[in-house]
Amino acid sequence: MAVWKCAECGNVVEARCKPGKCKACGAPKDKLAKEKAAEPAGKSCRAGRTCQK
Ligand SMILES: [Zn+2]
Repeated sequence: MAVWKCAECGNVVEARCKPGKCKACGAPKDKLAKEKAAEPAGKSCRAGRTCQK
């Protein structure tokens, strides 16, 4: 599970791959920066891809 931090509001989102937007403030995904990855590469979505959820 990766941790994404919103640059707009500071909200932290745990998700396997990059969320489409911040759940707290609705900022677009380019505002979300990866904080850390707790999973080895390969289990997460490919870089640059976004969850369809
Ligand atoms: Zn936010």
